[in-house]
Amino acid sequence: DTAYLSLRDVKVHFPTDDGLVKAVDGLSFDLERGKTIGIVGESGSGKSVTSQAILGLHRRSRAKASGQIVLDGEDLMTAKDERLRHLRGSKMAMIFQDPLSALHPYYTVGSQIVEGILVHHSDMGKSAAKKRAVDLLGRVGIPSPGRRVDQYPHEFSGGMRQRAMIAMALANDPSLLIADEPTTALDVTVQAQILDLMRDLQREFGSAIIMITHDLGVVAEMADDILVMYGGKAVEYGSVDDVFYRPTHPYAWGLLSSMPRLDRDRKGRLDPVPGNPPSLINVPSGCAFHPRCAFRDQVPGDACRSEVPELRETTPGHLDRCHLTAEQKATLFNEKVKPR
Ligand code: SF4
Ligand code: MG
Repeated sequence: DTAYLSLRDVKVHFPTDDGLVKAVDGLSFDLERGKTIGIVGESGSGKSVTSQAILGLHRRSRAKASGQIVLDGEDLMTAKDERLRHLRGSKMAMIFQDPLSALHPYYTVGSQIVEGILVHHSDMGKSAAKKRAVDLLGRVGIPSPGRRVDQYPHEFSGGMRQRAMIAMALANDPSLLIADEPTTALDVTVQAQILDLMRDLQREFGSAIIMITHDLGVVAEMADDILVMYGGKAVEYGSVDDVFYRPTHPYAWGLLSSMPRLDRDRKGRLDPVPGNPPSLINVPSGCAFHPRCAFRDQVPGDACRSEVPELRETTPGHLDRCHLTAEQKATLFNEKVKPR
């Protein structure tokens, strides 16, 4: 049987004047209700495009998408535009990095939540919808929600706006919540509060959550599984225990090393990933990460430059896309990467 959300060989390619941009290039993963997957990577790795494809937003561009995206038994890739519009805001909802992109400045926060409710529950009266909006604002921890509901976004602090956007996303009890860098713009304290809130809401509603971030610390705290993307492909995938505590791919090692740690003697340790993300038009030959990889010469012959590594299972449920042997990965991780 299939998972609640299941992606199989999803590709999203954008034709441009310079060539085909392979933003997402053959991505597969599963997600169950009540679980969180963290999708991690640099900007341009394909993580946001993946979430847009799930929501069907890529259809607004010239993107060509293929593969399967199945939500609760329904194939979203072949669903009609109208059906996707209905699913967005009801079964699926999105939390963005910037609440101001989701909140209109000229309407009160409450009226925007009410509108989101009424779009999907036309039978609900306006006053019942407003009551629900107040209730939602209270649920996400906004004080005096009965008063706040009639205020405008600019009257809210940054953290409050983020909460208001979460309230809006929750308006119709979505079973799939996609959060794209939801806490990046917030200070550390508010960030922790928002993550706590999302965890509570997940417990209460049993939602499946996709957390998109460049911050491994956030996923380690929130996620059950982690998918690391590089150049539109998954380079490592597995449980948090595997990917955060025993990562096997040199790119994941770089991300881990770039996490701020005060407790660490960095001498002789791996540097945070140097260099730039790869071109998605002229993807480097062989392993797309090879121009930046400190370990490419550890692989015999020219394999890193000439052979595209397959995504392979290293231990049950833990996959990576790298030519190094299992022994090399274990040794290099222990010697160069593992926090002391
Ligand atoms: Fe580095 Fe080679 Fe592994 Fe790619 S395949 S990550 S270049 S060692
Ligand atoms: Mg992004």
